[in-house]
Amino acid sequence: MGSVRVHHLNCASFRPAIAPPMVAHVLLVERDGGLLLVDTGYGSGELADPGRLGKPYLLAVRPALDPGETALAQVKALGFAPEDVTDIAVTHLDSDHAGGLVDFPHARVHIHQPELDAARHPRFMEKQRYLPAQWAHGPQWVQHSEPGDDWFGFPSVTAIGDDVVMIPLLGHTRGHAGIAVRDAADHWLLHAGDAVFDGDQLATPPSCARSLTVMQTLMAVSNKLRRENTERLRELVATHSDEVTVFCAHDKAQYGALATR
Ligand SMILES: [Zn+2]
Repeated sequence: MGSVRVHHLNCASFRPAIAPPMVAHVLLVERDGGLLLVDTGYGSGELADPGRLGKPYLLAVRPALDPGETALAQVKALGFAPEDVTDIAVTHLDSDHAGGLVDFPHARVHIHQPELDAARHPRFMEKQRYLPAQWAHGPQWVQHSEPGDDWFGFPSVTAIGDDVVMIPLLGHTRGHAGIAVRDAADHWLLHAGDAVFDGDQLATPPSCARSLTVMQTLMAVSNKLRRENTERLRELVATHSDEVTVFCAHDKAQYGALATR
């Protein structure tokens, strides 16, 4: 059975200096056993201490840091308690995806094992992207590594159940993964995280603003893997859009279209 209801949340707004405005697209999924968050945006830690994000980062991406945008505030506004969130699945642990972990300390946090390894043992170039304070409270990590059933041609790593699976999409980070959620109508939503920054990169023919291409190239740990996965996702969209809706974390227009459906 698919998930009962899926809410689209924006858990961080950005006005980058060199790119169009962006969001941090998060899913709140009502499942039989409890609530699931897919990614978390920023949380109370960044609101209390924006400086921990670092001055260069604050100047480059200019996050709004609006208290009403945290996952915690939006979960409460929907009438739920923080403890109702039993599970969180993260696409990766960059600071704009992992900030909300601290606000749901009871939740199990599902993660692709290579991503937790990268965050715990960052290489020189990775040190600035991860913020260990975001998981200093000691989340209940649930690490996933064994390939599961094939999912539309992608080797999946089963995350939580047959309605939520983790799809490795390496490149942006060492353990980056998409999270696919099956809804009540048996349609899949694939949160592709930062595999792409602009939904039009998955159109045929693809397109992307030059500034976003530069940002993605600079931020990737492997541009070869990132480009290969972009092409696989583009093919998925071209051939299976009736069964799967693919979206990325930061595309504001894509978020607007899905949130108001
Ligand atoms: Zn991001």
